[in-house]
Amino acid sequence: MNPAVIPHDDLTDIVGRDRVFDDPNLLRRLARDESFATPTTPRCVVQPATPEQVQELVRWANRTATPLVPVSSGAPHFRGDTVPGEGGAVIVDLSTMNAVLRVDRRNRVAMIEPGVTYGELLPALRREGLAPYMPLLPRRTKSVVGSMLEREPITMGRHQWDIQDPLLCIEVIFGNGELFRTGSAAGPGTIEEQRQAGGAQMRGMGPGQTDLQRIVQGAQGTMGIVTWATMKCRLLPTVTEAFLVASESPEPLLALGHELFRIMLGDDVFVLNAHNLAAILTDDAESLRRLRAALPAWILYFAVDGTGVLPEERIAYQVEQWQDLAQRLGLRPVKNLPAGVRADHVARSLTAPSTDPYWKLRLSGGCEDVFFLTTLDRAAAMVRLFHERAERAGYPTRDLGTYVQPTVQGTSCHCELNLPYDPGDGAAAGAVRTLVEEASVALANAGAFFSRPYGRCADFAYRRDAVSTMALKKLKAIFDPQHVMNPGKLCF
Ligand SMILES: Cc1cc2nc3c(=O)[nH]c(=O)nc-3n(C[C@H](O)[C@H](O)[C@H](O)COP(=O)(O)OP(=O)(O)OC[C@H]3O[C@@H](n4cnc5c(N)ncnc54)[C@H](O)[C@@H]3O)c2cc1C
Repeated sequence: MNPAVIPHDDLTDIVGRDRVFDDPNLLRRLARDESFATPTTPRCVVQPATPEQVQELVRWANRTATPLVPVSSGAPHFRGDTVPGEGGAVIVDLSTMNAVLRVDRRNRVAMIEPGVTYGELLPALRREGLAPYMPLLPRRTKSVVGSMLEREPITMGRHQWDIQDPLLCIEVIFGNGELFRTGSAAGPGTIEEQRQAGGAQMRGMGPGQTDLQRIVQGAQGTMGIVTWATMKCRLLPTVTEAFLVASESPEPLLALGHELFRIMLGDDVFVLNAHNLAAILTDDAESLRRLRAALPAWILYFAVDGTGVLPEERIAYQVEQWQDLAQRLGLRPVKNLPAGVRADHVARSLTAPSTDPYWKLRLSGGCEDVFFLTTLDRAAAMVRLFHERAERAGYPTRDLGTYVQPTVQGTSCHCELNLPYDPGDGAAAGAVRTLVEEASVALANAGAFFSRPYGRCADFAYRRDAVSTMALKKLKAIFDPQHVMNPGKLCF
């Protein structure tokens, strides 16, 4: 980005002349993303460097009634939540606030700024013998704080004790300009004083009976701007043993998943269809098509990590039980699938962000996702419902990706349908848009819970829940009374 004509002396006073950008080409790029969100050109981009500057920006926005759109990840953006919902908005680009502030091996906690990507976090944690809980191959530019704030599911649902995990405490500048620290970071004392007393900002709940990060999490930047977060980490495994289980339908695999969570076995557990497994293991459309044609329709991935003082023993007892369990359910865990797909290749790919192009874009260059929460016993019916709708709408269902991720100890699961399409083909894009909107309503009618509704999906999700909508509006009036934080998103 080149610093260009400076539109606002007050902005340059806050962040410095070289951190305000209004190059028309840049603004045109930021007016849209890969989703179907209505393009709206922002007024300019600012890159604050400190929490104090963020706080000054929010105060300035309140004085001048200027909408602020916080953005932490780099492009491409997919969900429309970082496209301004109103004209005249200032994009608050936090990508250069990218310090790993602390890695605490003893407590398995890291404190990071919002611009830190998984690619930057991984080596910093590895040096201390730790690893992050990661979503399924996040894109290379994805902010870790952004991912946790969006409640992106992690591949290790058994390590998730609460829907908030692995997010712990945050420092947030609310829309009213107040700086607040949540959880045990709230106090007493400064962060430095807490550390000297042995505190590690590792308890997300509080202060008192309030968990204000729950208002900020999932809020798509409508409540405030997070300036750092602490996160739960895990020990870096010294060895991992991984398996694949194939099936022609998802039901037996989801039943196996349910049992695994009931007896708390394994670390990574999720189910993919052939398209998605091929997408994460190949680099281009041609090899993706070839691989998916050779794969079974559905695949469960199961892995146990060897960590701590007895890594081999930790693996051995779990693998023995895992094989017993799979056998009892008439399923056969294997290390290799046809076409040279190996469980340890999948294991390796899960330890890093996606290579470019991002795996969801490999087939056609564009991709729209539908995702919601349900329970493992209902996931297969919901996936089938979507596949039937897609078939009826003439979408090539062989291209449809499916990902089922058990979350929070298997009490619920994240169900995701990925619809690759060619963004240059207007008719195909329009058909995907209509299919996504109509099928999402049908899924919601069948009980799917759209806990992270983006774009048009938010309209029907909030219309269905008047009580929550009213409560959220009351909270919004407290924490962002001037509606400067990302207006036009969710129910605001
Ligand atoms: C202070 C505190 C103490 C806790 N103590 C304990 C404890 O002692 N023991 C314990 O086991 N847990 C404990 N927990 C964890 C708690 O049980 C979880 O946070 C629980 O999942 C929240 O349930 P809920 O009813 O509040 O939320 P809900 O809103 O009901 O959500 C529960 C889950 O179901 C999903 N969901 C909701 N509705 C639907 C739907 N229609 N379709 C599909 N999915 C849906 C939600 O997204 C979420 O994943 C504690 C949590 C906190 C904050």
